[in-house]
Amino acid sequence: MEVEIATIGGYEAVGRQMTAVRAGDDVVIFDMGLNLSKVLIHDNVETERMHSLDLIDMGAIPDDRVMSDLEGDVKAIVPTHGHLDHIGAISKLAHRYDAPIVASPFTIELVKQQIKSEEKFGVQNDLVKMSAGETMSIGERNELEFVNVTHSIIDAINPVLHTPEGAVVYGLDKRMDHTPVIGDPIDMKRFREIGREGEGVLCYIEDCTNAGKKGRTPSESVARRHLKDVMTSIEDYDGGIVATTFSSHIARVKSLVEFADDIGRQPVLLGRSMEKYSGTAERLDFVDFPEDLGMYGHRKSVDRTFKRIMNEGKENFFPIVTGHQGEPRAMLTRMGRGETPYELDDGDKVLFSARVIPEPTNEGQRYQSEKLLGMQGARIYDDIHVSGHLRSEGHYEMLDALQPKNVIPAHQSLEGFAPYVDLAEDMGYKAGRDLHITRNGNMIQLTE
Ligand SMILES: [Zn+2]
Repeated sequence: MEVEIATIGGYEAVGRQMTAVRAGDDVVIFDMGLNLSKVLIHDNVETERMHSLDLIDMGAIPDDRVMSDLEGDVKAIVPTHGHLDHIGAISKLAHRYDAPIVASPFTIELVKQQIKSEEKFGVQNDLVKMSAGETMSIGERNELEFVNVTHSIIDAINPVLHTPEGAVVYGLDKRMDHTPVIGDPIDMKRFREIGREGEGVLCYIEDCTNAGKKGRTPSESVARRHLKDVMTSIEDYDGGIVATTFSSHIARVKSLVEFADDIGRQPVLLGRSMEKYSGTAERLDFVDFPEDLGMYGHRKSVDRTFKRIMNEGKENFFPIVTGHQGEPRAMLTRMGRGETPYELDDGDKVLFSARVIPEPTNEGQRYQSEKLLGMQGARIYDDIHVSGHLRSEGHYEMLDALQPKNVIPAHQSLEGFAPYVDLAEDMGYKAGRDLHITRNGNMIQLTE
């Protein structure tokens, strides 16, 4: 059977991931993501109303025109997890394919919400829920399997397409967490089995985000302990304490909520995306928040809550807000600019349970946000965080478990691929032979 891979998006930078695998007559698409920085760099761009081709020209969504060179029918569109760089283009591209969107329950729910907010296209693909450990047939000879992985968002999976020529394992995005705060540990046992059963692994496509970092990415339970240490150390402070993190990082939000209670403060979630992700996770029973946990997204209800906090005393509350990257319209940025009823005083604490995404726009905005908060007297606690992506020893372990015949580095720039290429070559792969360094819009033929 002919197996080929189309590397459509995310092979030149992090963002707008999209890869298609053709096995015989069947095609499966993995991820359909957005490159948010290409959108945010323009003022006032409302992607909801924009046409796909304009967004492709901006570099915001994958240029899927290469799909017309791929013979065969698309049988499934499979987003791996709910981050926007993996699902953000579904509302713009999925309607062009007569195929269901197959994803884990939390991811499907986020896809559903995104489709609902789309104003230009009516996306009507079937939405199919499939959990880690489950499989489905793709055509007559191929099978799709979801393997549980751990990442900075819940319910992440790595899809595997089993073909008669061997398995194609799509490894975006993950870290190796054996003690996650929510959900099951990464299923390394299954990866090792896949590496040894049948024809083994024909191809492994890998998330190279942190390939240049040595050692191992710590578990979420390490970030949780770090957070507990910081929050316990300021337990006796009698002024304002505010925290921010990735809204989609439900495990982190859960830790913040629990420790707020431990230090005698009432947690409250503020900001549109805080309400969206945490509300969704709670509705789907991924997390059990206290019954009286307030979640407010709309500007008016947020400002009303801030007023209540000022009236009842800042020392009684623990607002968890949007704005960890200094996004101009996010809650913490507005607080820094003095645009909310919440008044910061000298010595008030601001906790960033996040790392700045290393990208000039984020770095600039975050710098500005921190300076504005600092000018109002806030003390900053930064970097209370662990990454969601494998470092070098995780990459070593994955190659060792899967023993793939071919490897394709993804989710990075050419420069970002370099440390991964070094590691893979140390393990016996050779660039140009079985280690395929590629760009967006290419085809890699694996078997004939
Ligand atoms: Zn991700």
